[in-house]
Amino acid sequence: MTTTLITNIGEFFTGDLKAPEADVSTLLIEGDRIKTLNPPADTECDKAIDAEGLAVLPGLVDGHIHPVFGEWTPTQNTLGWIGNYMHGGSTTMISAGELHTPGLDYNDLTADLVTSLAEVTAATTGRIRWSDVKVHAGTALLVPGMTEKHFDRLADAGSIVVKFIFFPLEENREEAIRYTAMARERGIRTKVHTGGVSRSGSSQICGFDTLSWLQPDVAAHVSGGPIPMSDDDLDKLVDNTEFALEVCSSGNYRSTYMVVQRLMEQGRLSRLTMGTDTPGGTGVIPRGMLRNILFLSSICEMTPADAVAVGTGNTAKAHGLDVGILEEGAPADLLIAGPVKGSAGSTMADAIAHGDLPGISFVIIDGEVIVETRSEQTPPPMEIAHFMDTPGCPYC
Ligand SMILES: [Zn+2]
Repeated sequence: MTTTLITNIGEFFTGDLKAPEADVSTLLIEGDRIKTLNPPADTECDKAIDAEGLAVLPGLVDGHIHPVFGEWTPTQNTLGWIGNYMHGGSTTMISAGELHTPGLDYNDLTADLVTSLAEVTAATTGRIRWSDVKVHAGTALLVPGMTEKHFDRLADAGSIVVKFIFFPLEENREEAIRYTAMARERGIRTKVHTGGVSRSGSSQICGFDTLSWLQPDVAAHVSGGPIPMSDDDLDKLVDNTEFALEVCSSGNYRSTYMVVQRLMEQGRLSRLTMGTDTPGGTGVIPRGMLRNILFLSSICEMTPADAVAVGTGNTAKAHGLDVGILEEGAPADLLIAGPVKGSAGSTMADAIAHGDLPGISFVIIDGEVIVETRSEQTPPPMEIAHFMDTPGCPYC
């Protein structure tokens, strides 16, 4: 197995809210995994990267995307969006439903159709590693009339999430609760559209009352996607439930500030997860996840390392994935990044706390270098990480 050593790391963000920063200056990758943090100085390796004092952080986990067919999105008629998001730091993406498929009639969805659509997307977009990104596609748009067989088919297709968005929840409470149980039996998470009507025009309105009995695994875009639930509902949701609460780029900034502040006051940040909720009416946003992290830190007053952890390990965990945390044995999905020339402060943490976009130098997925030297979607960082090939290098 190929070994890659990253040396001269200036800041290290773990992605784990329990200990979001660590004193790590060198990291050894073996194959697709992180082998050792701070290995001995005489460690042998096949390749070495000098991080030039930049930060290492987990690849970002976009918990809410809307794929359709590969790298094409009909919502903005755009090609190549997944690769562009990868250049913005996202290495894992989780579908919140493939509802933008052209011609799909939201008012005439059947159990067989939504199951087949999830199967097709899982077997097409979800099968290929677009730009090496780990895209989890095949998220069924639940409708009344589904049976154990439909959930078996979704499990066979490798679905990790099912979505309540068009399902009339209040009229079919028992059926919805049964679906949640059937999904969980198969290791599939349930996510529910919350707030007002979405761009589709056909989504159900969902606030605290519905969420309190439904008890989904993740309440999607609680601060709006694009329309949030009422302030009162949002407070009650934070105070009286335990499941994961997602904030997205599509949301209402004021509601995002409210929900984040309340979770922080209560010491319950571990419930917070993040996504872009794009492509969609909000657009195609390659830097969307980075911008969310900047908002959480610079406006919502979260520490930079906590904000990174929300957009990486925490979001992965809420969806049952093992990515997003940099520890020995974990998948080697990571970014080497730092402040852009002219930005506030001299560290990545300073830049994030100030709300300044960091520059990405390297993107590594499963131990493979996908972006080398600099990203196509961010300005370059102050220093540029690079492969070391100097004879006599103490590490090689
Ligand atoms: Zn969405």
